[in-house]
Amino acid sequence: IWKNIIDLRLEVSSTMAGSDDATIPHWYAPERPPISIRDGDGVTVTDDEGTQYLDFLSQLYCVNAGHGNRAIVDAMTEQLERVQYVSPSKRTPVRAELADRLVDVAPDPLSDVVFSVTGSEANELAIQFAREYTGASKILTRYQSYHGSTYAAGALTGDPETRNAVESHAATTGVVKFLPPLTHRSPFEAETPEELAEQAANHLEYVIRNEGPDSVAAILTEPIGGTSGAYTAPPGYFERVRELCDEYDVLLISDEVIAGFGRCGEWFGIDTEGVEPDMMTFAKAVTSGYAPLAGVLARPEITHSLREDGFPIGQTFGGHPVACAAGNAALEAYEDGLIENVRAVEPTFESALAALEDEHEAVGTVRGRGFHWAVEFTDPETGEPFMNPWVEDGHNPVVDVLGEAADRGVLLGGGRPKTQIVLSPPLVADEDDVTTAV
Ligand code: PLP
Repeated sequence: IWKNIIDLRLEVSSTMAGSDDATIPHWYAPERPPISIRDGDGVTVTDDEGTQYLDFLSQLYCVNAGHGNRAIVDAMTEQLERVQYVSPSKRTPVRAELADRLVDVAPDPLSDVVFSVTGSEANELAIQFAREYTGASKILTRYQSYHGSTYAAGALTGDPETRNAVESHAATTGVVKFLPPLTHRSPFEAETPEELAEQAANHLEYVIRNEGPDSVAAILTEPIGGTSGAYTAPPGYFERVRELCDEYDVLLISDEVIAGFGRCGEWFGIDTEGVEPDMMTFAKAVTSGYAPLAGVLARPEITHSLREDGFPIGQTFGGHPVACAAGNAALEAYEDGLIENVRAVEPTFESALAALEDEHEAVGTVRGRGFHWAVEFTDPETGEPFMNPWVEDGHNPVVDVLGEAADRGVLLGGGRPKTQIVLSPPLVADEDDVTTAV
């Protein structure tokens, strides 16, 4: 296992060394001019020249209720006309309504909500709560994960490329990484998903025991890989993680910033694993991207004890009323059929993607759940993933796929590592949209 990690780190650091070369196109800024988006409607966006695109990344996993949703716009307008801002220290009905709605759809024990503005801040809040509540300092997060870019959230992030960019500016003390239960290019040598679940959970237990259970406050993890490429855990893995948390008195925090709000076919990603966390963090699609809003859903004893002790934290724009109005309307849209739509369209989406595996020799694997999928490419000559994106002529073939897709009217995402593309459309996409995009 450790040899694999070291290999991976060496590979990644050589990639990063290469990225200093000015002739190499940046992943997000290859030689083509950026697309300037002017309008949006449902699953599509339109650029300045009037070209339409299927928005198959929902503008960074945000616009789950689709572009131009009239009910959300009306709710925000009405709130603006009523009262545009109320400080977080005061009560206001629109915020209380959203808190109630979130608690209604969250797993049972999570009945308290603390609002913030971005996903990074929500994760920082969650670890503040975890550390205060448990009195322990260590937070365990996975390699191949993304939890944000700010001082503490950057340290939680386990994606090697992002970490290389943020780690020297991040609060890494007290953050310990463990190995994810990857099904592809796995650091574990498992023959079956069940074996993988067992080995990965045993490894996590090993980390907890060697760090010292009393020093570990929480395990913070995405229930399904987000930007790291739609990795689903092998069956039984999260149940074991929950058991370990109970056995060693460690909090389980599910980062739902991408996986939440119907993206995986249930309200939250962790619901698809049948496990109840102690806290969840959310952002992005809570308002369908119509305004910035994020927060933490927690077991009340975790947050209440801090409030009683006068834990004086809060953010000026946490729970902004106009964002909360957007959130109420977005949650209504998810409830009113959009999550059902994900479940109805998922089989078509999955089988269209699975057919790529057979049809194209450069398609290595396809993985995901609901409306969150990744396609990983492999070099047909070696059968290996294009691990180093900077192949001889200065182009990453996976970047070319993204560019070609845009030329043909589909906006996709680039996963990390850069061996894969990600498809995460708005939940309003129908069978025609997904087959066209695929
Ligand atoms: N957590 C996950 C899983 C994310 O994907 C992201 C952002 O993409 C974040 C946290 C950070 O959210 P933000 O960019 O709003 O700070």
